[in-house]
Amino acid sequence: MLTKGAKGTKDVIPEESYKWHYIESIYKEVCENFGYKEIRTPVFEHTNLFERGVGETTDVVQKEMYTFKDKGGRSITLKPEGTSSIVRSFVENKLYGGVQPTKVFYNTPCFRYERPQAGRLRAFHQFGVEVFGSDSPSVDVEVMSIAYTVFERLGLNNIELNINSVGCPKCRAEYNHILKEYIAPKLDKLCNTCNSRYEKNPLRILDCKNPSCQEELKDAPLMIDHLCDDCREHFDKVKEYLDAIEIDYIINPKIVRGLDYYTKTAFEFISKDIGAQGTVCGGGRYNGLVKEIGGPETAGIGFGMGVERLLLTLESLNIPFPEPRGIDIFIVTIGERADIESFSILYKLRKLGISADKDHLNRSIRAQFKYANKIDANFTIVIGDDELDRDVITLKNMKTGDQREIKLSSLTKELKQELGR
Ligand code: ATP
Ligand code: MG
Repeated sequence: MLTKGAKGTKDVIPEESYKWHYIESIYKEVCENFGYKEIRTPVFEHTNLFERGVGETTDVVQKEMYTFKDKGGRSITLKPEGTSSIVRSFVENKLYGGVQPTKVFYNTPCFRYERPQAGRLRAFHQFGVEVFGSDSPSVDVEVMSIAYTVFERLGLNNIELNINSVGCPKCRAEYNHILKEYIAPKLDKLCNTCNSRYEKNPLRILDCKNPSCQEELKDAPLMIDHLCDDCREHFDKVKEYLDAIEIDYIINPKIVRGLDYYTKTAFEFISKDIGAQGTVCGGGRYNGLVKEIGGPETAGIGFGMGVERLLLTLESLNIPFPEPRGIDIFIVTIGERADIESFSILYKLRKLGISADKDHLNRSIRAQFKYANKIDANFTIVIGDDELDRDVITLKNMKTGDQREIKLSSLTKELKQELGR
């Protein structure tokens, strides 16, 4: 073999793709029910978009991006997430000039240079939604309820919604001051990453996964206890809307998105069934981001959901996926004349939307029936010289074993009736 797939990448082989189709169709259906339209943006963007959009002090930008120079010397980056591109598109295509709010959903490949492990890949996919142009807390909960409905539709119940508020630039500035005063005497006991975040982005220190840092910070003052009136009221309303639609949640003050353009609501859906990589979906408000990217001041909120992590959760819980539909009809052929004739019948059936197949390996009749079973054919017919001469064939239902004689010339009509189309 010339080479293997690159580290941290995974193929979706034909036997598995029906699972993807299934969750993609549920996702699309739910989003459309909520009044969202699909948006598609390119796989790569100018690097500075992500430096701004994701934030220069984040792990994603500092360590994980696939960045390269193109042949024109431009710095290009493969999308590490979905939101930045969509904000760019919202501004560039002046979507803010249309009817508001703008409600979009997406399904995109993402690329991050990370250490691959279960639920963590270098090339993965995200489902997501974004809403622009409304600061109403009802939108925050609408967005959460989309993810919730998707989980519910897929049969995933054991997933916990964690919510928090990260405040706004005004109350966060005051809080950062209090937090830094608390952290200052502990700095020498915290890891290098925490130290590097102290000046630029102290809120993210609370997000450190290092157990000894967590221990040091367990009594740290929390943003949620220092919200201004506006942010406090917004957070209370979010809870009220969640209660109104009976979605359970826990308040988790450790969920942070510590950049100036992230505001108010932050949330995660965490599965307790797939171990360390349990966050299947993360999202929040970013009321400052559209302006940061060069658009007019516009409120925004969204989430990103890891599709591979979602699949992993479903599989680890043995949640069934609906089996793919077998092929409608397989034509067993005997002899050369029948082979040519079947080829033409096959083409007609396929054009009518009936899925049909025949043998391409010169198999015996017995082997053709075996193959028909293997590809899960619902019906079979046998065509040989005799059938062609007499215009009579036997239509066999492979599931029930029932068979009956029909005219070859009325095959499509009879089949359509059997299939209820
Ligand atoms: P984590 O803490 O797991 O690194 P994150 O905070 O980097 O997650 P986000 O940037 O919020 O994740 O991305 C949203 C979702 O995308 C995550 O909740 C997760 O389900 C998925 N995701 C993120 N990185 C990866 C990856 N490398 N491989 C697979 N899925 C991922
Ligand atoms: Mg990450």
